[in-house]
Amino acid sequence: MTVSSNVFVLFDKYHKKSIKSSTRAARSAGVQHCKEHVITLTTPIPSRDVVLNVAHNKEQLIEMITEELLDRTQGLRLPNRLVVTGKAVTPVEVWTSVNIGDTVTKHQAIVPQLLAAHALTGCDTVGCYFRIGKIKAVKVLKAGYRLDSIGQPEAQHETIIREAAQFIAACYGEKVGPNGSMSDIRYRHWISSMGIKCAASVHQLKTLPPTSEAFVENVKRAHFQACIWRSALTGEAPDMDPLENAWVSDDNFGVLMSVTLPPQTEIAPAAVMKLIQCGCSSETPCSTERCGCVAGQMSCSAFCRCRAEIRTCRNRWTMLKQRIEDANDSDKDESNDEDDSDD
Ligand SMILES: [Zn+2]
Ligand SMILES: [Zn+2]
Repeated sequence: MTVSSNVFVLFDKYHKKSIKSSTRAARSAGVQHCKEHVITLTTPIPSRDVVLNVAHNKEQLIEMITEELLDRTQGLRLPNRLVVTGKAVTPVEVWTSVNIGDTVTKHQAIVPQLLAAHALTGCDTVGCYFRIGKIKAVKVLKAGYRLDSIGQPEAQHETIIREAAQFIAACYGEKVGPNGSMSDIRYRHWISSMGIKCAASVHQLKTLPPTSEAFVENVKRAHFQACIWRSALTGEAPDMDPLENAWVSDDNFGVLMSVTLPPQTEIAPAAVMKLIQCGCSSETPCSTERCGCVAGQMSCSAFCRCRAEIRTCRNRWTMLKQRIEDANDSDKDESNDEDDSDD
């Protein structure tokens, strides 16, 4: 084993409104006691999760290590150990080595596609597909599917979507026709998986491929992410705006959020929406059998023109539902009161 005298220590820096900001927020949300600490060389460092998931703590640790490394290069002594959660950190004793050169040679054919495949099948900034993992992605790559345009800033949008659709369809064991869309694949996959399921088992929607609309947004994010990765060696980030690549700015929380569906996307075909919504607009809407909801003996819903608002909608089923909900709520209140008196 050869020993290199060059040691590279890399830290990532997150900007506030970055495409990873929502992932970061989700990470710290799961951390208990996610307080901000004052971290110094002489105080015990909080647990790994508290340091790494709370941005402020992580920044302090990085700064501390960086300063010490700089001091050391200037001839000053580094304390010979850092204290992490009260325990001294010992050097890692078990080393595993992977020969990167051999691995690259062995998988030459798929190496150029790896960044795109990784981005497309899910990473910190791109949603993944239920039960489609990295092993599946590699299998599809080895089967000859290519992702040449994802991550190339100048690639045509249509080409990117076509390649991505063929790739993801293959991950689901399906094939897209020349004019096929992801929604077609979703439908076909649903038909075929219903066929092999026993009647008693409830079909899980999450096992289906996404709709075309949701898919396109996800592919845009994968393309954007892969463009950034590919540009890493040049040091110049591509001139692309996340807000044009399926992110929106949430100014209340100062983060970028992913767009799951483009605005104004119909959540169901018009014919289905007609079955579950009414468009009553008279002064006393939904008071007669002319209201589709009343005729169907159903309460109105948020999809209806009346929005099922109790001051507006005169549908007797809406009112009945409201009375039942009110009664349930007051039952709950009473039982809460009893709990309080027990305390
Ligand atoms: Zn109505
Ligand atoms: Zn109504």
